Amino acid sequence: MIVAASVLASSATATLVPIDDRDLVRFGVLLGCSWIAIELTRHIERKREYWRSPTSGYIDTKSVWSFAAVIVLPPLLASLMVVLTYTLAWWRIKPHARPGLPHRWVFSCATVLCGTQAAVVVLEVGMASYPGAPGAASMEGLAEFGVIAAAGVLRWAINLGLVLVAIALASPTARARDLFSNIGEQVLEAGALGLGLVTAAVVVNNPFVLPGVVVAMVALHRGLLVHQYQQASRFDAKTGLTTAKWWHEYAEQAFTQSRNRGRTMGLLIVDLDHFKAINDTYGHPFGDRVLRSVAKELLAEVRDEDACGRWGGEEFVIALPEVGNEHNVQRVAERIRRRIQSVVLDPPGNDDSADVVTITASVGGAIFPAEGISSLDELLLAADTALYAAKNGGRNTVRLNGAGAPTMPVRRALPQQAEPPTAGA
Ligand code: GH3
Ligand code: MG
Ligand code: MG
Repeated sequence: MIVAASVLASSATATLVPIDDRDLVRFGVLLGCSWIAIELTRHIERKREYWRSPTSGYIDTKSVWSFAAVIVLPPLLASLMVVLTYTLAWWRIKPHARPGLPHRWVFSCATVLCGTQAAVVVLEVGMASYPGAPGAASMEGLAEFGVIAAAGVLRWAINLGLVLVAIALASPTARARDLFSNIGEQVLEAGALGLGLVTAAVVVNNPFVLPGVVVAMVALHRGLLVHQYQQASRFDAKTGLTTAKWWHEYAEQAFTQSRNRGRTMGLLIVDLDHFKAINDTYGHPFGDRVLRSVAKELLAEVRDEDACGRWGGEEFVIALPEVGNEHNVQRVAERIRRRIQSVVLDPPGNDDSADVVTITASVGGAIFPAEGISSLDELLLAADTALYAAKNGGRNTVRLNGAGAPTMPVRRALPQQAEPPTAGA
């Protein structure tokens, strides 16, 4: 339906303004720039397309070119620019791993076309020099800038509105929070529209400056996405805690500082008891829910300067800089153990509210400075040994290294690999 509406609206505006030779040259220049930009960003775009969650809208950085086209070109060429940039992008970017009908691209293209026609109407009504760049520095130019900004916001809002409605219809379980989760990408979209306006002025006044816009576009695109990837690699997707690698780096710094400044540092390893049985009884997705709940409780129990990480599977690590003394480590560990014990979860398909699931955890702790500990990995090993003692001591309990724990053979020094995400995660 949206595709039909977009075709209808595009044909309605097509004849508003006739096309001349100069328009065709500008059209060619803008299309050429968009092609170069697509080539320079296609590897990142391919990743973005592949990993895009089905409940998040596609952010169209191509609008730098298609929005510029709306401003300076007759409506027919502006619509053609949208269709051609989408076709180019689909051809150059579509993930090899997912061939097949480009229905998602066709839909995105149609929503952008609808927004584009609305922008055409706003510009036609409000802009004296339409199609063309806004008038130079005068009150008239300022007013035209306002009209263009309104057209840009309308184009964006219509596009986003249509996408959100389609997503909500296709996946009714999607929560509003998920739909708006990619704020960083919306910033990218706003940046693209802003650059589209600059491009419009440049293509009319001095097209030779356009390579500068291409460079800015590619840099904006890469900068923002690289930042997003860094964030993604820092946090564990399942629990929201930091990943083992990131946690290790943070703890390494904290340890070095403690040693250099003569301060203390505590370390806890938390391992859920009989977690395999939870998975076996209620299924893996429920196990994942338990992990998320435990992660939330851990974060609520520690100070801002403490770092909680997912060490692997159902094992968590907590660094406690400047913890003071062994007694404090014991107290924090005990608080965490009790807090996990108080978590109550409703298993799937449970009609009887009395039939709930509770969990327990064993906690091993260690403190620096202590005899035989001169590195983070030795501190980790000490906490791991204490955890082993807690498990042997009957589980749902806390043990500290050096507090009567027998010396155990090394179980491992590096985190085990977290399991790959599951379908229900
Ligand atoms: P113990 O009391 O000795 O710790 O018993 P346990 O069953 O918890 O034993 P262990 O710690 O060795 O078990 C790890 C289990 O955690 C096995 C694995 O299936 C499960 N697991 C690991 N990662 C995940 C995950 O991401 N999601 C879910 N649902 N389960 C996981
Ligand atoms: Mg366990
Ligand atoms: Mg374990």
